[in-house]
Amino acid sequence: MIKKHIAILGSTGSIGTQALQVIDNHPGLFEVEVLAAKENVDLLVEQALKYIPAHVIIANKNKYRDVADALSSLPVMVHSGEEAIAQITELDSIEIVLTAMVGFSGLLPTLNALRKGKDIALANKETLVVAGDLITHMAKESGSKIYPVDSEHSAIFQCLTGEDLSNVEKIYLTASGGPFRGWKKKKLIKVTPQEALCHPNWCMGNKVTIDSATLMNKGLEAIEAKWLFSLSPDQIKVIIHPQSIIHSIVQFIDGSMKAQMGLPDMRLPIQYALGFPERLPSDFKRLDFTDFPELTFEKPDKNVFGCLDIAYRAMERGGNIPCIMNGANEVAVDAFLKEKIKFTDIPEIINASVERMDFIPSPDYNDYITTNFETCKFAQTLIH
Ligand code: MG
Repeated sequence: MIKKHIAILGSTGSIGTQALQVIDNHPGLFEVEVLAAKENVDLLVEQALKYIPAHVIIANKNKYRDVADALSSLPVMVHSGEEAIAQITELDSIEIVLTAMVGFSGLLPTLNALRKGKDIALANKETLVVAGDLITHMAKESGSKIYPVDSEHSAIFQCLTGEDLSNVEKIYLTASGGPFRGWKKKKLIKVTPQEALCHPNWCMGNKVTIDSATLMNKGLEAIEAKWLFSLSPDQIKVIIHPQSIIHSIVQFIDGSMKAQMGLPDMRLPIQYALGFPERLPSDFKRLDFTDFPELTFEKPDKNVFGCLDIAYRAMERGGNIPCIMNGANEVAVDAFLKEKIKFTDIPEIINASVERMDFIPSPDYNDYITTNFETCKFAQTLIH
């Protein structure tokens, strides 16, 4: 494999740090050109001292001095602000951008990278949820490839290797069900952030862990799959699989199914995305079937976990509705983590926002920016 020059956006988060482990495991295959983080100065500086990237960016402008001073003796350019992150992805020296930041903020850096023909290792699912039409259109125009990092989509992507997309009948996205699988609505009212952050199988960032507990994560992933694999909503099914061993399944027009499986370890999909088209070796722990004598499957309880239906309705309506849903969800999850609202308020806030905001059937980039801004402003008013 020829050395790949990479920009890691969100390098101090869960995906970013695991991506650096993957890079460490393959010396000579990757060159870290850019490290960007939101506000974790200590870890960003530690990473910059180790990888000596050409550029380092801290999104929080108040922390620029701390980063710049710590790296002043190195040949590293230090920048700050969200705009710097959006611009850096256009650099000629970058071939692939790992988008591992959280939420809507990933949209502009992703679009800029695609416009310049860079490949994307996509971990920031919200960007596809919000503006999947713009992103897939831009990728088509520039010839950029989008490699999924999300474990379910990596599974589908791996199952589709060597297959024709037109032969896909449907896909099954597997979901662990999160920490509250089997719970009734009444019990969910009293859930604390600490309880919701205890994911049974996967080690992930806070936002996606809360989204997993509400099942919104699976809703976001259904929309992500629609855009990545050009599927219609009725071709995308969700099945609860509590052991998280089968990471997703493709069913073809002859009824045959392919599944990708393994122990739940995010480094695997990250490595597959960064190494593609090569499959790189790893020493990650292997699955021992006797540790999992039973693989079980059940239907998601849509009455208790309302977010899944909200996402499917948003996917069917299209336009700026997924953007409204995503903005309201980001506000609600943040408020829940800060203990300002109840766990069960999350779907209520999303529904109220979708009802209130204006529907735009064919939004352009500016419509998405305005929709996100207005939605977040409105959703904030629902938080006491
Ligand atoms: Mg996932």
